[in-house]
Amino acid sequence: MAHKNPGINTVCTHSGELKDEQFKGAVSPLYMSTSYAFEDVEVKRYPRYFNTPNQVALAQKMAALEHGEAALIFGSGMAAVSTSLFAFLHKGDHVVLQNTLYGGTSNLVVEEFEKFGIDFSFTKDLQPESFKDQIKKTTKVIYIETPSNPLLTITDLKMVAEIAKEHGLVSMIDNTFASPVNQNPIDFGIDIVIHSATKYMGGHSDILAGTVISSEEHINTIFQLAKNFGGSLSDYTVWLLERSIKTMGLRVKAQNKNAKKLAKYLENHADIEKVYYPGLKSHPDHALAKSQMKGFGGMLSFELKEGLNASLFQKKLKLIKSSMSLAGVESTILSPTLTSHALLSPENRENQGIKDGLLRFSVGIEEKEDLIADIEQALEKIKSSKVER
Ligand code: PLP
Repeated sequence: MAHKNPGINTVCTHSGELKDEQFKGAVSPLYMSTSYAFEDVEVKRYPRYFNTPNQVALAQKMAALEHGEAALIFGSGMAAVSTSLFAFLHKGDHVVLQNTLYGGTSNLVVEEFEKFGIDFSFTKDLQPESFKDQIKKTTKVIYIETPSNPLLTITDLKMVAEIAKEHGLVSMIDNTFASPVNQNPIDFGIDIVIHSATKYMGGHSDILAGTVISSEEHINTIFQLAKNFGGSLSDYTVWLLERSIKTMGLRVKAQNKNAKKLAKYLENHADIEKVYYPGLKSHPDHALAKSQMKGFGGMLSFELKEGLNASLFQKKLKLIKSSMSLAGVESTILSPTLTSHALLSPENRENQGIKDGLLRFSVGIEEKEDLIADIEQALEKIKSSKVER
């Protein structure tokens, strides 16, 4: 009987390992050289050319995780996003972007594209017509993010891939919130997959990195720009990231489970107005999420009932930390208005449905009972302080 493809935990642990031929050690050796011989060698290696032994090995792991042919590793998620977009967009070109995107990506587009003569449109919503309506003769790229940051909207991967193919466009996705454990967009026909590896791939809130995965051809197009933009990742961090990914399957599955439990708990809580989580039956795109995701992820957002102060609630939490980033093993919470989406105009935030009291919750691997107890004590504190006033 033919053996089926290796499962996610096997890929996380073993794909793209560098063999220690010299000492037979169990883990990948780390090659820190920034200087390699250029004569009598098959490859002229240099870290900014994305081709050191550790960079190449980790890129193979990324490609295996996302079912692509090749990958590049970057110094941040935004380096991966910006280099990928600029590689396919030139002066006079146009890009269609979904309306609900990570704030940093929206900023990149709104603040920089005009300077480079690149035209852009955001969709009205996530319906097929909204994407089609924005396509022009000069459109080259469709860019999506699902689940999106911070409202966990779900975009139909197959629908976007089909529209892109029909119009000869390159489709790109930011797959950060799902992680490769929960969603593999290439299987649905999306061309290019981007991750902020700072998040679930790193998983311990101590690595800044990004990656892009696609066909050999598209990765070569991105590489031609990437070597000039210079956004590669140092080998020590590459090595740490490879180590972190070994446990990604375990971590993310634990986070999926916790987040689903916490989402249900919050949804049934008298002090909570609304919960945004694709794993809830009440999520408008629950069925779509189920059809394209293997797990619903560790991210959820919620709003407190009117009169309860979200910022004070956040301050009263003891176990769940206030934090700018997400996807670490520790649970963290933030206000998108004050952080990830702070640079957007209030109108732009309102258009995306991001209310000032919204809280984005990155659920960690702690015991769910401890997380619930922390939320309960914080709610009690803000309610009693309200009464005192
Ligand atoms: N994409 C998403 C969905 C994110 O949440 C982030 C960061 O928060 C980024 C991209 C940017 O990644 P980085 O901070 O690694 O540059």
